[in-house]
Parts: sequence; structure tokens; C-alpha cells
Amino acid sequence: MIKLHDLEFEPYISEEEINAAIDKVANKLNEDYRDANPIFLGVLNGSFMFASEVIKRFNADCEVSFVKLGSYEGTKTTGNVKTLLGLNQSLKDRHVILLEDIVDTGNTLEEINKILLKEEVANYEVATLFYKPEAYKKEFNIKYRGIEIPNKFIVGYGLDYDGLGRNLTQIYKLKENNMTNLVLFGPPGAGKGTQAD
Ligand code: 5GP
Ligand code: MG
Ligand code: MG
Repeated sequence: MIKLHDLEFEPYISEEEINAAIDKVANKLNEDYRDANPIFLGVLNGSFMFASEVIKRFNADCEVSFVKLGSYEGTKTTGNVKTLLGLNQSLKDRHVILLEDIVDTGNTLEEINKILLKEEVANYEVATLFYKPEAYKKEFNIKYRGIEIPNKFIVGYGLDYDGLGRNLTQIYKLKENNMTNLVLFGPPGAGKGTQAD
């Protein structure tokens, strides 16, 4: 059991299971992109560990970059305009693989897709370490999925709870006895809308 801020978390997915899932994803990527010189785009902050492990296992030419979803209030428009921080090279005619830590509702992914699909890429796919099938309601097909999990809040392996927990080398889930907190305040991150990380 560990405590991050006000909440208790318990071990959920071991480092061995994570590594096996990354092996599976990386094997497929090695088959599919052998001579494609793909660009891996890691989505910061959460994907840094997953991205590192996938890229270490990729054994052909590739390029690596990282992006972060940014947003600003338009001065003359209403609502948030989303931008991708760090996208500083053309992706035209390239094979792009987005590396995500987790896909939950898919809202974040949809915002990123909107921007990347304007780039006239040759091919675009998403690889995510974790995926919540019960929460994902979008059309976009996520081709490479590490581990499917139920609607639970997890931390570790790049994923945080209010800034903490990213350094954990296994995955922890929220302990059930935090129910009082959940009823009173909602799940961690609830109500924040699209997350940048
Ligand atoms: P979505 O937009 O798909 O609902 O959620 C995307 C972002 O929400 C993720 O990149 C991550 O930052 C955060 N998120 C979603 N589910 C979890 C979770 O179980 N644990 C943590 N730590 N973050 C999550
Ligand atoms: Mg977060
Ligand atoms: Mg993410």
C-alpha cells in the first residue's frame, strides 16, 4: 500500500506484466514498420516511460519526438483552442506513431488527432500502454494496445495523481476504502476536462 497526497493506492499491475505488454506492442511495431523510418511521437508527460521502452525495442531506423497538448483562451474567440507543443518538424508523407500512456474517454486523443491529421501524414496510428474499453466512446480505432483495464484510477509508470506517482515502476490502483473521498469529491482528475498529460 502507498499513499499519494490524501489517497491510498494498492498494487495492481506488476512490472513483469507491463514489460510483457510492451514486448507485444513492440513486436507488432517491428513487423509493421520495418522499412518505414517511422516517427514516434510521445505524448508528455505520462508516456515518457512507455515511449522509452517501446523505442528501445524498435530495431530499425526511426525518429523520436515528444509533444504536449496545450490550450489557450483565444482573445477574440470563445472557448479553448488546442495546440500541440513541440511539434516542430513536418510530418508530411511520414509514418507517425503516437505513443500514449492511457486512453480513457478518448477526448485528449481526439484533440491530438484533429491537429495531426491536418499534417498530410502517409499513415497515422496510436499505440497506448493502457486502455479503458468501457470508457472509450470514440470512432478512432486504436491499433496497438498494451493492457486493457476496467474503469479504475491507476497511477505509476508515468501516470500521476496530482503530480505524484510517475516514478513508480509498477501500477497501483485506488484503494476501495477511499470511497468516502470519491463520493464527496469525485475521482482524481474528475471535472478537469481534457488533460494535458
Ligand atoms: P481521456 O481524455 O482519454 O479521458 O484521458 C486522457 C488523460 O487523462 C490521460 O492522458 C491521463 O492523463 C488522464 N487519465 C485517464 N485515466 C487515468 C487513470 O486511470 N490514471 C491517471 N493517473 N490518469 C488518467
Ligand atoms: Mg495526469
Ligand atoms: Mg496521455
